[in-house]
Amino acid sequence: MITGKNYIGNQLSSTGNVTYKTINPKLNIENEPTFFEASQEEVEKAVYLASEAFEGFKKMSGSKKAKFLNAIADEILAMDDLLIETYISETGLPEGRAKGERGRTIGQLRAFADLVIEGSWVDATIDTSDLDRSPIPKQDIRKMLVPLGPVVVFGASNFPLAYATAGGDTAAAFAAGCPVIVKSHPMHAGTGELVASAINKAAIKTGMPEGVFSNLNSSGIEIGVQLVKHPKVKAVGFTGSIKGGRALLDLASQRPEPIPVFAEMGSINPVILLPEAMTARSADIAKTYAKSITLGAGQFCTNPGLILGVKGKNLDHFIKVLSDEIIKIKPSCMLHPNIISNYERNKTNVLQQKGISVTANLENDIAINHARQTVTTVAGKTFLENKILHQEVFGPFSIVVQCKDIEELETIINTLDGQLTGTIIAEKEEISRYNTVIDALQNRVGRIIFNGVPTGVEVCPAMLHGGPYPASTDSRFTAVGVQSIKRWVRPFSYQSWPNELLPDTLKNENPLGISRIIDGNRTSSKI
Ligand code: NAP
Repeated sequence: MITGKNYIGNQLSSTGNVTYKTINPKLNIENEPTFFEASQEEVEKAVYLASEAFEGFKKMSGSKKAKFLNAIADEILAMDDLLIETYISETGLPEGRAKGERGRTIGQLRAFADLVIEGSWVDATIDTSDLDRSPIPKQDIRKMLVPLGPVVVFGASNFPLAYATAGGDTAAAFAAGCPVIVKSHPMHAGTGELVASAINKAAIKTGMPEGVFSNLNSSGIEIGVQLVKHPKVKAVGFTGSIKGGRALLDLASQRPEPIPVFAEMGSINPVILLPEAMTARSADIAKTYAKSITLGAGQFCTNPGLILGVKGKNLDHFIKVLSDEIIKIKPSCMLHPNIISNYERNKTNVLQQKGISVTANLENDIAINHARQTVTTVAGKTFLENKILHQEVFGPFSIVVQCKDIEELETIINTLDGQLTGTIIAEKEEISRYNTVIDALQNRVGRIIFNGVPTGVEVCPAMLHGGPYPASTDSRFTAVGVQSIKRWVRPFSYQSWPNELLPDTLKNENPLGISRIIDGNRTSSKI
């Protein structure tokens, strides 16, 4: 059952007097439950409990944390239809997507459970002593990763499960040993509360300290601001717009004690069409891209919003087929009336720019809150000179840039902001011929794709989901896959510490049997 209340540790609480409702975008009506925005006292209590919980949670064994993570996955699955129905009513997304995202969320929780059971993720590095060394004896130094402290997580509107309450950020923070306070996304507060109840049940069942998790409702930015400024909060995870992520980064860096903000933000995901691939298969590529641009009503951070090619008949053909094909695709419902009004506003802003031509724009009547897919084209010089054209239009929208030659295409890549992905559509031999284009793209992106589409982010250890600013605030880390745990930890060294007082991870006997680096050699052996 959805109560509309906040989870402050194990307690459901609603002491505030600001209320709000979520919206069913398909029906364009408010959903039933009323949500109570967290009061200042509730925010204080959640943070206090989290910092108290940290003292026990940070020392918890990998197997105990894994039980907690697996129990969250079990509790989410146990909610079955209620969760799926709530997700659909708050997002307008279809059942298949809801179930797929639930599967991804469960998979992430279980992958982190496996990681912490195995235990080697702490990067244990041991340099044994050499007290006879002259002129100065060498001390015994042992290093491992330790958790940062309470983490605040902001989820995005477009992933109510996988990048939200029990999404990747939360699962990674729990695995690291950090308590989590979620600032619930106002557009899917019901889905958020249900998942919060699953986390809470799992925490109680597996004996976690109270305060290891809280879920705070809010309809505006104030609660998030209060959380990021709170001295007991030690890190922030954010998935959303560049505007939101940048605001939080600035707030966090202005604190007396600045803290890290790992923000995953917007991106236009450039796609580079190289000449021979265009000669060989421009129509097929166009058909594939019509689908990629409209997938999920274009509401993906990896949506291909920018396509770069060299002017000529092959690119003309590509634009024609892309435009013809995209119009045939049935429009889908966007997540919220605010999202569609932002889409229309941002798109109109681009369409009003000098030199932009619309090549596809659905003209038919469409259902309420459904998005009209749009393809535009512009000359390379115009694109270079107008930064407005470089901004994300969150929705089923893309600009095809017609460059006068490959040099102009490369210049454009060099002027782009940092991006999550870059895609090269090419024949194999073009990779070495256009190596400076590939190098330029590699400088601007976190992931480079060969002859594919950027939409679809596999969850696996080798995935890098992030990129140079503003795709993310710290391009050294991924937000997807088990290595995202590295965002919530810091390296810590023990010097000359008695063996029996060291954590098991660093003891001579290696009781956990993990892989460590001892005096420069990777091994699972004892010392
Ligand atoms: P959003 O408007 O930035 O909202 C995300 C969250 O941040 C919300 O909870 C929002 O709170 C909060 N927020 C926004 N501005 C804030 C501020 N100035 N101070 C404090 N809190 C603030 O983004 P969205 O519409 O939910 O998501 C769409 C965007 O996310 C797109 O740009 C998309 O590309 C990006 N995205 C990125 C990734 C990635 O992995 N890189 C994944 C998915 C989506 P309120 O709603 O309460 O204001």
